[in-house]
Amino acid sequence: MSEPAAPPSALTARWVAPIDVPPIAGGTVELTPDGRVAAVHDRPDARSGAEDLGDVALLPGFVNCHTHLEFSDFAAPIPAAGAFADWIAATVAARRERPGDRMDRVNRGLAESLAAGVTTVGEIATGAPEADGWNAARLPPPHARPALVAFGELIAPRDPVAALDAARAFLQSDGDPPDLIRGLSPHAPYSVHPAVPTLLAACPDTAAAPWAVHLLETSEEIDLLAKGQGPLAAAMERLGATRSDFGANRLRRDYLEPLATAARGLIVHGNRLTPADLDWLAAPERRHLSVIYCPRTHAHFGRPPHPWLALREAGVRVALGTDGRGSNPDLSILGELRFLHAQFPKVPPADLLALGTRCGAEALGVGGGRLRGGEPADLCAVRPDGASGDPAADLLHSGSRVVAVWRAGRRVV
Ligand SMILES: [Zn+2]
Repeated sequence: MSEPAAPPSALTARWVAPIDVPPIAGGTVELTPDGRVAAVHDRPDARSGAEDLGDVALLPGFVNCHTHLEFSDFAAPIPAAGAFADWIAATVAARRERPGDRMDRVNRGLAESLAAGVTTVGEIATGAPEADGWNAARLPPPHARPALVAFGELIAPRDPVAALDAARAFLQSDGDPPDLIRGLSPHAPYSVHPAVPTLLAACPDTAAAPWAVHLLETSEEIDLLAKGQGPLAAAMERLGATRSDFGANRLRRDYLEPLATAARGLIVHGNRLTPADLDWLAAPERRHLSVIYCPRTHAHFGRPPHPWLALREAGVRVALGTDGRGSNPDLSILGELRFLHAQFPKVPPADLLALGTRCGAEALGVGGGRLRGGEPADLCAVRPDGASGDPAADLLHSGSRVVAVWRAGRRVV
């Protein structure tokens, strides 16, 4: 992509949706030359001199808190009829058969995300650069992709010290672009030795990073964490962990408490969180922890209902992810919001929009997700479907579409 044109000084549209306050009819967003929001106006006189985008809603770019972009060339999700372990094996096998290298697929996913109005992505970064792994040096320039929080994936069933070394190596950020934040993803309790999160929490370098952990996704995982039993405990034993590593009731001690020492913590999925877990997460000192709900992926696996409404009621932050295209048809957060709107029509549309924008930015600990002075001017314009007078509701109808995207004030789509 060639260098985009210089930013306009202001944009106006039929609707401006700042997220923190109700949508503004005929609002204006003023931009700074260095790509930030200067101010958001509801005054008609502010429109003069602004670029008029017409019959669209202008809103902050969407935030996708959880995805695996290395699967971005999958045309359709991998069917999930059998055990979860079978789906994982089929997905890894399908990845192996695909042509092209990993960063080609990651960059394809970044382009798809940007076209869908997603301007910030929480990506699970797999593998080392020297072994066809995730490589920041091969990312497109910032204006051609979303801002990134890259969580270096740790799969380490056997050797916690090696996992700590790998984590510290991933966090070396020499030469990174300024809009890339590095974090860590101790993958899941069934693929990472239970001592790993505690080791990472005790090391200042690794504790200072944001973490994302797949947690409480399946009933088999509950058997592992609550009872130290079941097929996942047996599988970990085969990989070199010992049975005593998986005593009963280890969720809090081995996973949640270490996660709470990290700078930010994402509980990815959290399908099986209990009311007691909700109370623990809702404590004021744990506001840096969030639960990431991936609605269409959740539906793809036919999971029991997700506790996202109870989490919000308890005061726990919930934000959204797509997960990878191995379990989801695309990388669109607007697609997730439409799905939620259809499934939960009683939830106010404005609350859903906040899930896909502000809540995501807060979960990742980045700017954006709302329109107000000082925020990065990462924006998208959506042509609504319908004329109900509630632009948030019209954005969530099936015919709405993203028609323009800005990164740091410059139009890129
Ligand atoms: Zn995932």
